[in-house]
Amino acid sequence: MASVARKFTGNFTQQEGLSADAIAAAVAVLQSGRLHRYNLAPGEVGEVAQLEAEYRDWQGSKFCLAVTSGGQALQIALRACDVAPGDKVLTNAYTLAPVPGAIRAVGAEAVLVEIDENLRLDLDDLDAKIASSGARVLLLSHMRGHLCDMERLMAICDAAQVTVIEDCAHTMGARWKGRRSGNFGKVACFSTQTYKHMNSGEGGFLTTDAAAIAARATILSGSYMLYERHGAGPEPEAYADARYDMPNCSARMDALRAAILRPQLAALDTNIARWNARYALVENRLEAQDGVATIKLPSAEAHVGSSIQFRLPGFTAGQCRAVLEAAAARGVELKWFGAKEPAGFTSAHPSWRYVPAQNMPATDRIMATLFDMRLPLSFSEDDCALIAELICEAVGEVAS
Ligand SMILES: *Cc1c(COP(=O)(O)O)cnc(C)c1O
Repeated sequence: MASVARKFTGNFTQQEGLSADAIAAAVAVLQSGRLHRYNLAPGEVGEVAQLEAEYRDWQGSKFCLAVTSGGQALQIALRACDVAPGDKVLTNAYTLAPVPGAIRAVGAEAVLVEIDENLRLDLDDLDAKIASSGARVLLLSHMRGHLCDMERLMAICDAAQVTVIEDCAHTMGARWKGRRSGNFGKVACFSTQTYKHMNSGEGGFLTTDAAAIAARATILSGSYMLYERHGAGPEPEAYADARYDMPNCSARMDALRAAILRPQLAALDTNIARWNARYALVENRLEAQDGVATIKLPSAEAHVGSSIQFRLPGFTAGQCRAVLEAAAARGVELKWFGAKEPAGFTSAHPSWRYVPAQNMPATDRIMATLFDMRLPLSFSEDDCALIAELICEAVGEVAS
């Protein structure tokens, strides 16, 4: 490989260390020995219950349940919405494996919906697939933070009586016309896994305004009959049937993770602004580069730029692979969604063998030249400017 003049030396999977507040809160939980969310001293509310109440208030939902992971939140949401084995569930053809994985885990069958060039769900295809599949649930992935027209989406789904579950793993904090992502559908699921907008290693939230769904989800999460110890759940009457009907799927959040998430929630708005400053820097440079198609952010969307995507529409698969290599030689770790084999966190629908094979020509064409990169807050704005420059250099080298 030709040697390059400039190289970035940062680590694309390195998040920031946790704050002194978060570390102190974690130490206090460890010293108490009470790590289980229901293991409370007399009069103690508990870290998990406090986190649930704080996230509910921040999100602006009626109820919030903390769980072990975003993927578990998705499974619980599907079960709480009565998805049964053999049912069909609509979802994006372009997303990450936990989404079709959750559908499969509850025994349901994913019906894939196309995306458009700006990576949003294709609402015409959604309309057509609702009609052709008869599916009554949409698990909508706001993949990489790109929101589709949420008003039109809800109008289509409401008219067809399709229940919407929002996968907000990439849109914690994003808004559509001022309304938070997650507050459109029946239920929303969030992840606090290390690479998302808050970092507890693993973890997640489920939010909803429906008391019955919140009660079912809480029992599903493994509350036993201790659901009154929750911080942002419905009144005890809401559990009248759920406490007998719902199986315990043991997916509770523990006090240690909640303790380190609470200070992060307090810093989330600040961090969103920091991500967006980094995103804008990279975006502006990429926009100026010949051959690069950036992803258009609609003016109705308040985006959270914790990662960035772009396409190279004129490039062959060989050229895309060469761009990956030229960027890697410069220390820039790009992901490419056009690869034949799944790699790292990245996979394409043909490699999900647990989903019936489906013909998705538009999605395949878009993903064939689609690149993706994380923007961890451990990178400075100068780092981001250099990274953007190096990507453009790599693209230019392959194009010439
Ligand atoms: C990370 C992720 C999830 C699941 O989150 P985990 O907490 O890792 O289970 C769901 N959907 C998408 C799109 C994700 O990227």
